[in-house]
Amino acid sequence: MLRQEFGKVDPKRRATLDHKKKQFAAPEFKQQAYPHRLNFYDTPPTAEITLEQFEQWAIDRLKILAEIEACSYRNKTAAETAAHLTPLLQKFLPLASNTSSVSGAEDQRLQNERQKDHYSHFILRLAFSGTEDLRRRFARAETMLFKFRFQQDDSRERRAFMESLNLDWEPVTDDEKHELLEKLTNATSGLRHIDDENWYKVDWERVPELIERRGVFLTKGKAYVPGREQLSMIIAEFTARLERALELTSRALPRLDEDDRLSPILDHLSKNFGSAESVYSEGEGFVDGAPITAGAIDHLSQHFPLCMRSLHMTLRKNNHLKHFGRLQYTLFLKGIGLSLEECILFWRQSFKGFTDDEFNSRYKYNVRHAYGDVGGDVNRRGRGYPPYSCQKILSDTNTGVGQTHGCPYRHFSVDNLIGLLQSTGVHDKEVLRGVREDVGKTRYHIACNRVFEWTHKTDIKRVKEDGTWSQTDLDTIVHPNTYFKRSYLLKQVGKTPQDA
Ligand code: SF4
Repeated sequence: MLRQEFGKVDPKRRATLDHKKKQFAAPEFKQQAYPHRLNFYDTPPTAEITLEQFEQWAIDRLKILAEIEACSYRNKTAAETAAHLTPLLQKFLPLASNTSSVSGAEDQRLQNERQKDHYSHFILRLAFSGTEDLRRRFARAETMLFKFRFQQDDSRERRAFMESLNLDWEPVTDDEKHELLEKLTNATSGLRHIDDENWYKVDWERVPELIERRGVFLTKGKAYVPGREQLSMIIAEFTARLERALELTSRALPRLDEDDRLSPILDHLSKNFGSAESVYSEGEGFVDGAPITAGAIDHLSQHFPLCMRSLHMTLRKNNHLKHFGRLQYTLFLKGIGLSLEECILFWRQSFKGFTDDEFNSRYKYNVRHAYGDVGGDVNRRGRGYPPYSCQKILSDTNTGVGQTHGCPYRHFSVDNLIGLLQSTGVHDKEVLRGVREDVGKTRYHIACNRVFEWTHKTDIKRVKEDGTWSQTDLDTIVHPNTYFKRSYLLKQVGKTPQDA
């Protein structure tokens, strides 16, 4: 599978290989052993995996990186981030320690987890090395993930892992320590027991964070770093190696264009950084037993995200919606569980001023088409098209004057957006300031999640306190239908996403 990138054999070279020698040659693609939980990802994977694993593993890791980025954008503290990430990691990218393994079956589980971690990192490295912005975001999120895991690691395993890296950190001898005692003391104010500490000499460029906060003694291009700053050193090393590797990967990318199986997957992944939309599956927005009928939509619209709420408000105001707005809204309504018959009834009642014949000839077919009742791709017959994700709506370039579809956070002017939010009851100055800031930094779905959290703060507090909802039930929303379902269920005391 990954041989496309990492072990491609030039056909001309292959032809010159002596087949007798070839049968005794070491296998080119092989399973790797993972003695440590942590990985610096220095060695590319070489075993084969299926195309399904390739995609699914990458999507699972992407989900984690997107959540890490969302936590950082929302200025969550380290403790809040840890509480948010721990269950998600357990679900999508578990990575147990060696001490958790007590049997052969457990060993295999560790091996599988580590293989997935290893491969998914390299797949996303391919997907995100195309542009400088993606490389920067990927390196940042991966570094945060590594740091999080490093801090959680068992101290003995952490030491063994660090020894395996052969880092050229030069230990400072006792004699040198005594010679420099005063300078070391001055440079590391607050550090009392210089003698008791293990010190290392490293090239100063490798500890930029410590240099920036003037936390080390510098001489002749070397920084003298106390052992307790090991975390900073190892993180800086991880980032530096990853950034270098990403540069190299970006140069190798054009060769991948030849592969028409991998390129579309990688392209899709890179477009979804920050939203990880692929984890949403059709049917996920349904709420079992909820009264989803044409007559209930007005009432239910209080649970709709701003993109759909805005369409609903325009529909009620104008008794009409343009084509793309209708399509976006129809698919959303289908996603929340409105049946085809009820959906046709909803549009018929909403489009005032048209005769039945006019409605049937101009609008009904499109609704049936969206549901897969007529026309379209044979594979979609009976199912129609899936509801749009945030990523799809956000990347719509067909919005403009007179159009009402799209995402208000992205496609409306800031003043119109704030006006719309206020008209739906969002008046909190802090929230509106945060939304302006998010939008200014093109973090549209973060703005949307900010509004969700504020409008549901009491219910979120309740379900967290009574323990009925887990942290994974409250991860970042990246789909309008998830927004609806979560909002609806939060108002039904005692209901959890698992019951729905
Ligand atoms: Fe809709 Fe997504 Fe935009 Fe929120 S971020 S308004 S759910 S498209």
